[in-house]
Amino acid sequence: MLGDLVRVVSARGYGAWRGEVERIGGCSHPRKFRGSTRWVDGAGRVVREFTSGSLPGGVLLAPCQNRRASRCPSCSRVYRGDVYHLVRAGLTGGKGVPDTVASHARVFVTLTAPSFGPVHAARSAGGRPVACRPRRAGARCPHGRSLGCWEVHDPGDPQVGAPVCRECFDYVGAVLWNAYLGKLWHRFVTYLPRALARATGRTHAALRAAVRLSYVKVVEWQARGLAHVHAVVRADRAPDLEAPGGGPGPAPGWVTPEALGRAVREAVDAVRVVVEAGSHGGRVLRWGGQVDVTTIPATEEPGSSEGERAARYLAKYATKDVTDPDLAGQDPGTPRGAHLARMAATARDLSALPGLGRIGRHARTLGYPGHVTSKSRAYSTTLTALRQARARHRTGPDPGPGVRRSSAWRLVGHGWSPGQALIAAEVARDAVINRAAARDAGGGAGAAPPGGRVGLRAVRGQAEVSGARSAPSCSSFRGSGAGR
Ligand SMILES: [Zn+2]
Ligand SMILES: [Zn+2]
Ligand SMILES: [Zn+2]
Repeated sequence: MLGDLVRVVSARGYGAWRGEVERIGGCSHPRKFRGSTRWVDGAGRVVREFTSGSLPGGVLLAPCQNRRASRCPSCSRVYRGDVYHLVRAGLTGGKGVPDTVASHARVFVTLTAPSFGPVHAARSAGGRPVACRPRRAGARCPHGRSLGCWEVHDPGDPQVGAPVCRECFDYVGAVLWNAYLGKLWHRFVTYLPRALARATGRTHAALRAAVRLSYVKVVEWQARGLAHVHAVVRADRAPDLEAPGGGPGPAPGWVTPEALGRAVREAVDAVRVVVEAGSHGGRVLRWGGQVDVTTIPATEEPGSSEGERAARYLAKYATKDVTDPDLAGQDPGTPRGAHLARMAATARDLSALPGLGRIGRHARTLGYPGHVTSKSRAYSTTLTALRQARARHRTGPDPGPGVRRSSAWRLVGHGWSPGQALIAAEVARDAVINRAAARDAGGGAGAAPPGGRVGLRAVRGQAEVSGARSAPSCSSFRGSGAGR
């Protein structure tokens, strides 16, 4: 490795190469492309050209765009920044969304899974840690295990999330719940307009004619291996009433945040999904009783603190390793590790049943199929649009009307040699330090960095190049690395 490092650093053109590494933010697993983008005018003349031949090593480096911090710290930070911008634009405007969205009725919602059996938990009351499960001494489950636990667990305690009795825990129900979370959500958003019609004293048809509901959601894991959902739900004017090109307008005044909150609770209560699991019997899946609905106050100012807070919160969860809920990092010798391993095994077992075959494919995510984040079309901009804006920043704006852009890029490899990887990691670390320094110097948005100085600019890649892989769809911005 040292020999390789010396070779890399002493090679001719090292400075230019390092500049390219900085441009992609020190991505740990970049893709390498050869090709060109040409801008051609009406007469067929090439008015501008950008080719890999002019770059160090004759290749264009593009960031891997992996969402997971464990795979690529640099791209994960970019993804978090993008989610932040996307969520925030839908709350306070910007990125092509009118600032008036800040005046729409909107709520921040957390939906959890129900209980599938008692688990150890790090609890607190009034800010003070308290005992896990204080129960009458001698209270036992049907398997003879004590139902009480008088320990005060730290959140990092390997018991946290593990069942008090594994025989009592409904593993089949828990895995099915993860597997059908998407369906539970879909039914929730289907019921929501009806519930809002009731909450506002309108007919369903009258509501639909006047109001459209937009949302963005992020899935997070609980210690017990069950997913839950954080979401923003926003009331817009119905699209038919929209001015052409005007973006979402506010819903009528009778759609208050309070009515929206009541509707959310009613819709949550109404959702049922029935699943047959062969000899395990059927399960009626529903949302858990722990539903949190918070009104995001309407504000006059774009960039309000409430909108910022919600955006940061969702962005933070979006880059947690949702596709890998600490499963790989868990020691199966610990109570929680053994619990998660049993959930994964249950997912594999269930896939032998008719209609449930897909669950086994998602055993590593405990049955959950892996869409981390999704939004309705109208909520705000898309990740694709944010990436394209970055690519335009790199290649400059299109030269004007009548000029056509044509791109031809071919993937020719990826990754680093051992010595290159050391330098890329150093560049990624420097980018973090530069960004923190820029933030301390004033501006910047805390947990989720919008455009930083040195590092972030460098991280930004090439949308037209990334199109060579499957681009994320507009309505579902799962992490580009989620399926791998
Ligand atoms: Zn990367
Ligand atoms: Zn306990
Ligand atoms: Zn038991």
